[in-house]
Amino acid sequence: MTDVTVNDTPAAATPPDGMTPLPDQSAAKTLFAGKILHANVFPYPRMADAERETLEPMLDALDAFLADRREDFRRWDAEAGQPPGFVQELRELGLFGLIIPEDQGGLGLSNAAYARVLSQTSRYDTSVSLTIGAHSSIGMKGILLFGTPAQRARYLPKLASGEMIAAFCLTESGAGSDAAALRTTAKRQPDGSWVLSGEKIWITNGGIADLYTVFARTEDTEGKITAFVVESAWDGVSHGPHEDKMGIRASSTTTVSFADVRVPAENVLGEEGKGFKIAMAILNNGRTGLGGGAVGGMKSLLALATQQAQERKQFGRPIAEFGLVREKIAQIMVDCFAAESVVWMVAHYIDSGYDDYSVEAAISKVFATEAANRAAWEALQIAGGNGYMKEFPYEQAVRDARISPIFEGTNEILRLFIAMSGLKDAGKALSDLKAAVDDIFANPIKGFGVLSGYAGRRLARATGVNLGPAFPHCPEALRAACAVYEKYTAAFGGAAEQVLRKYGRDVVEHQHDLKRIAEIAIDLFVGLCVMSRAAALGEADPERREEVYGLATVFTQQAKRRMAANLRRLERNEDEQLDRLASTALADGGYRWDIVSG
Ligand SMILES: Cc1cc2nc3c(=O)[nH]c(=O)nc-3n(C[C@H](O)[C@H](O)[C@H](O)COP(=O)(O)OP(=O)(O)OC[C@H]3O[C@@H](n4cnc5c(N)ncnc54)[C@H](O)[C@@H]3O)c2cc1C
Repeated sequence: MTDVTVNDTPAAATPPDGMTPLPDQSAAKTLFAGKILHANVFPYPRMADAERETLEPMLDALDAFLADRREDFRRWDAEAGQPPGFVQELRELGLFGLIIPEDQGGLGLSNAAYARVLSQTSRYDTSVSLTIGAHSSIGMKGILLFGTPAQRARYLPKLASGEMIAAFCLTESGAGSDAAALRTTAKRQPDGSWVLSGEKIWITNGGIADLYTVFARTEDTEGKITAFVVESAWDGVSHGPHEDKMGIRASSTTTVSFADVRVPAENVLGEEGKGFKIAMAILNNGRTGLGGGAVGGMKSLLALATQQAQERKQFGRPIAEFGLVREKIAQIMVDCFAAESVVWMVAHYIDSGYDDYSVEAAISKVFATEAANRAAWEALQIAGGNGYMKEFPYEQAVRDARISPIFEGTNEILRLFIAMSGLKDAGKALSDLKAAVDDIFANPIKGFGVLSGYAGRRLARATGVNLGPAFPHCPEALRAACAVYEKYTAAFGGAAEQVLRKYGRDVVEHQHDLKRIAEIAIDLFVGLCVMSRAAALGEADPERREEVYGLATVFTQQAKRRMAANLRRLERNEDEQLDRLASTALADGGYRWDIVSG
């Protein structure tokens, strides 16, 4: 995308203030300065017609392929593993080449279309999405983003056909959330090659992959991290047995070990010593895969829940007539709409070449994965006792959904990242706080991993750019809802400044408040995506306008209540008491009281 700035845009072509997309600015980070970057959120992006035409038959083909396999998926969940014949069928359908360019043998899908494909596979089985997603979203994404021409030529065609399946090897037993603590080493040899030693754990596709993107320390144990492309066929590479997991049981998860593996010099991925940045860039770029999957799962749960609610009769009536059941159904719908709106906005940022979408990507992952978990929980509740029985799909849905807030960055770490990244930018824009935030990450939070996408973006407040008239795209019927975001964005900007002034660089130690800041940022950014999408859908389809505006209004009212509570609780809360209680429980090794012994 061309780098459009307010200053160098010719006058004749200048849209109204705030209407020019600023691909080098982050809409989510700008909220921390109390401003809405309208141009980056409105109008809602529309998938190109050509891509729709490619996608539609592909989705139909997936339906035809997956719809009859439901019994297989349940059996493979119980048996814990996809048979090789099924993986072969995935290869034949081209599902390992979704985002690989056509000239390298792939389908060349955009991020948005790719996320839509994973949304479709997740309607049937989460493990299927993970086999495809771990390969494309993270396993071989490094070669797409950072590969040399020779690496691309050597590996992409094989990765596209599925002749090679890929996996992403970052986590180790001592390095989970603190990924930068990894101990796997790579020692340079006199001939320029490397010797790789260490063990990675919980690697998705670990047992079926032919190619691993591996992160290792390259100088000494305190040294820098470098990324390598490693083939499973090389001497010294092995994997452990299939992990016996709670959910996504058919998806391959194993340890992967490297015992003095000789890695040729040309298999260093990206710049030497920049491996941590590379890992984070891959995870950021891959988040919409997980988000798309979460949305697909929710759609399938809503279909199940509506059918169940209409068929099941109690007290002489279908339970669908009862308010408490209807509330759950409607809430899944609202959550699904919001998740879909934010996930595809982020996909659009990635596809359009926006520079800095890491906070938006984290927001979409946190929101979509938690919405999917709520949906699974509530769909099971609507099914009552049936929901608890293995004969029905709900218990597997709950088990399968549970992993998503844990992997690819736990949602706690991502919340801290959202808050810290936004606050850092906001602090930089306040000249008197600049020194305080300059080394805001020079502390343990560095391990969140998350700084890679940060590029010191200018904020509106710093540049003096007017970010726009009040909701130029807001339809009349949504004005009241739009006003909520205007009001709370301004209040949020004030709150972010206050938090920075109160704690300075020590803000990193105030996780309760960081969480509140992140929660507000999530509600604001997801809410803006919801408004944008509702406005676009309402315009395109007047007959369903009332329904879609209704969805947007409900989300906004709920977000408003959450934001008000979070703002209030920045001032008045029981954080200290909670911390004391945690200390008590930690000191006692559990719960102190008992009804018998007092
Ligand atoms: C099924 C499965 C598949 C996976 N696939 C892959 C893969 O393909 N490749 C790969 O590299 N990894 C993979 N992982 C690893 C996954 O990314 C990690 O489990 C995840 O990053 C969390 O690390 P951890 O499990 O060590 O938890 P920990 O880091 O030990 O965290 C435990 C808890 O403490 C919280 N916590 C930790 N630090 C902080 C902090 N500073 N502040 C507040 N809270 C904190 C966490 O949020 C979490 O709730 C997979 C894991 C699983 C279970």
